[in-house]
Amino acid sequence: MLSRECGIISVMLNFEIHSEEGGARTGLLRMSRGNVHTPAFMPVGTNATVKAMTPEELMDMGAEIILGNTYHLSLRPGIEVIRAAGGLHRFMNWDRPILTDSGGFQVYSLSALRRIEPHGVHFKSHVDGSMHFIGPDEAMEIQSALGSDIAMVFDDCTPYPAEFEYALNSLQLTLAWARRCRELQKEDQALFGIVQGSAYKELRTMSIGGLLDIGFDGYAVGGLSVGEPKEVMHEMIRFVGPLLPRDKPRYLMGIGDLMDVLVAVDSGFDMFDCVMPTRNARNGTLFTSLGRVSIKRTEYKADARPLDPECGCYTCRHYSRAYLRHMFLTKEILSMRLNTFHNLFFYMTFFRNMREAIGRGEFQAFKKKREAMIGTEELQE
Ligand SMILES: [Zn+2]
Repeated sequence: MLSRECGIISVMLNFEIHSEEGGARTGLLRMSRGNVHTPAFMPVGTNATVKAMTPEELMDMGAEIILGNTYHLSLRPGIEVIRAAGGLHRFMNWDRPILTDSGGFQVYSLSALRRIEPHGVHFKSHVDGSMHFIGPDEAMEIQSALGSDIAMVFDDCTPYPAEFEYALNSLQLTLAWARRCRELQKEDQALFGIVQGSAYKELRTMSIGGLLDIGFDGYAVGGLSVGEPKEVMHEMIRFVGPLLPRDKPRYLMGIGDLMDVLVAVDSGFDMFDCVMPTRNARNGTLFTSLGRVSIKRTEYKADARPLDPECGCYTCRHYSRAYLRHMFLTKEILSMRLNTFHNLFFYMTFFRNMREAIGRGEFQAFKKKREAMIGTEELQE
C-alpha cells in the first residue's frame, strides 16, 4: 500500500507467491518480456554478454533473467551506442527480462578513486583512468536507455568495517538517492530499492523503514560480501530477510556461494546474482554433485569419466575429464565454453531442484543434504 504514495506505480512487474515453507518461498515474477520462477539465479552479463555463452544456450539451460552492469556499459561501448541499437535487449540479442544494477557497487569496488558528493560520485574509470560522474539522475537515465526490465536505485555501498556514524551517513545518502530515483522512474521499468546499514541491525531497520516510506516494486539488500566474516553476513541475511515486505520480490545482491544462498532462501530471499559459476569456470574450478573440481589437477590427466556423472549438460554428456583438463591446460577457447556451460547448468539445476523441494515442503531436507555436500567439497580443494 505504501508503494502507491509516491507517484506512479510500475505496471511492469507482478509477483505472486506459490508455496512457502518456513521462511523459504517459491514464486513467479511476471514481466512483459517473460516470467521468472523464484528463487531465481541471474547469470551476470557484465559487458552485454554472459561470458562465453550465446543467448540461445542460456535459454536452453533455463535462464529466465540476466543481469547487466550500468557502470561497465556506460564506459564501454557507451550509452549512445546501445541507445542507437535500440536498447540492451536488441544490442545483445536477449529478449527475456534484464535487471540492471545502478553502478553504485562497481563505483565502490572497481574505481581506483571516488569522491562522494550529495548528488553523486566522481570516479576514475578502471578502463582508461578518465574521470566520470554518476548519481541517481545519471543512473536512472542510463538504465532507461539500456531499457532494462528492472532498474536498481543508485546507492552508496558502505565499506566494511564502518563506524556507526559513517554507516548512518552513508545510508541516509542512499535513502536520499533512492527517493530521487523513484521520482525519475519510468512507467515501463520496475525499480528496486536497496537496503544498506552495514552490520548494524538498527541501521538496517532504519534503511528498510525509509525505503518502505518511498515504496518500490521490490527490495534488494546490498553492502554484504564486502569483507565481513561469514557469520556476520549470515546474521544480517537472517535479520533483514523477514523484515522486507512479504508480497514483494527480495533480492540479495552479488551473493552466489551456494551455502550463503541456502541461508538466504531460508530467510525469504527470491533473487540472486553472482559471477561465481562463470568466473570459476574460466579459472578451471567446476561445481559438481561430487564436490568442487579443479580440472587442472594431474589426477584427471587420463580420466575418461564425465566431469559429473549426475549432470545432464552438454559438456558432461560429450566430454571426459581428461579432455576438459587438456583444453584448460592448452588454453583453448573451447575450455571456457565447456566449463561455463557446465557451471551455469549446475547452478540453474540447483535452483530448479531447490524450488521443487520448497514446493514439496522438503526444503529443510534439501538444505541439510546440500550443506553436507558443499561442506565436504571445500575439503577436497
Ligand atoms: Zn555438466
